[in-house]
Amino acid sequence: MSENNLNIQMVDLKSQYMKIKPQVDKAINDVLSSTQFINGEHVKSFQKELANYLGVKHVITCANGTDALQMSMMALGLKPGDEVITPSFTYIATAEVIGLLGLKPVFVDCDPKTFNISVEEVEKAITKKTKAIVPVHLFGQSSDMKSIMNLAKKHDLFVIEDNAQAIGSDYLGFNKPQKTGTIGNIGCTSFFPSKNLGCYGDGGAMMTNDDELAEKLRMIANHGQSKRYYHDMVGCNSRLDNIQAAVLRIKLKELDQYIQNRQKAANYYDQNLKELNQLTLPYRSMESNHVFHQYTLKLNENIKRDELIEFLAKKNIPAMVYYPVPAHHQKMFSEIPNSHTNMKVTNELSSRVFSLPMHTELSSLQQDFIIDNLFRFFKI
Ligand SMILES: *Cc1c(COP(=O)(O)O)cnc(C)c1O
Repeated sequence: MSENNLNIQMVDLKSQYMKIKPQVDKAINDVLSSTQFINGEHVKSFQKELANYLGVKHVITCANGTDALQMSMMALGLKPGDEVITPSFTYIATAEVIGLLGLKPVFVDCDPKTFNISVEEVEKAITKKTKAIVPVHLFGQSSDMKSIMNLAKKHDLFVIEDNAQAIGSDYLGFNKPQKTGTIGNIGCTSFFPSKNLGCYGDGGAMMTNDDELAEKLRMIANHGQSKRYYHDMVGCNSRLDNIQAAVLRIKLKELDQYIQNRQKAANYYDQNLKELNQLTLPYRSMESNHVFHQYTLKLNENIKRDELIEFLAKKNIPAMVYYPVPAHHQKMFSEIPNSHTNMKVTNELSSRVFSLPMHTELSSLQQDFIIDNLFRFFKI
């Protein structure tokens, strides 16, 4: 079989779109005809439908996931100099907004199994200046929210969940399952096209059960406005548009199926790669289900990651490294002292992880080809 025919991609948005094309095209055309581009009916309905799906009181949509994180920190009244604890092994947006607001990011190491923030390290990093913890539910699996919420309570800290990669995931550490992003004071998500619930442009949302915070988040996203042309505080302009909301309403109905497709593909990888002892399969936490935003493997120390990725690329199999440079090593944070923290796991992961194609349309034929070539690389 020629590798070219399989058309393997990290994320196959085209094939997914083709399955919902009639509904999507109609919805977009209806918005075009209505010319209600901003704050239209779809935005209002989507907020309600997503709140309903997640089991949370308020969903406030905005322009992207980065804005959602920034506005959450603004709404909680965080001030320059306040310390915010976050994992270093994450997408840069989480840490960047902390810096943008003049807050001090305090980077901590992650758990070697889940790759999520290490609660032990969080506890060690808490000082009198600490105001908030921002756990990231990395690659589609919840952080240890029970321990994080307990720590936050004990030290009077806010919790903002970065749920951009785990929307739809259930945290299982409480008496009953609870959706990630609805546990802390505020949860944030992104609707970037490649996310598990993605639109066809940029989009994001904040989730909260707190009425007062919801009100404040709405104001901040709308120029600090309480009443038209009355601006009570300095805010932002951050909106989800009606076309994106129309797309998201259709895709929200498919989200559980999309998650199942990802889980099925992950199980297939697991079953077929388990014999390769040159790599470690993604860990499945007992405290969370995994919605597999990414299928991320860890290579043994002696394996040359670059060579593996190049080998796969020659067969037209894409593989990506999330993330090659942790936040504490980024130039933008070169002024931030973090000598007090041990980043052993984070440093190790950034040089040894890689992610295989993972999306809702992955076929077993494609997966067989990927698996076969991994075995070839390891010459088994
Ligand atoms: C995608 C992502 C974001 C940012 O979302 P945007 O919509 O691109 O601004 C933030 N945090 C994490 C963990 C992400 O994966």
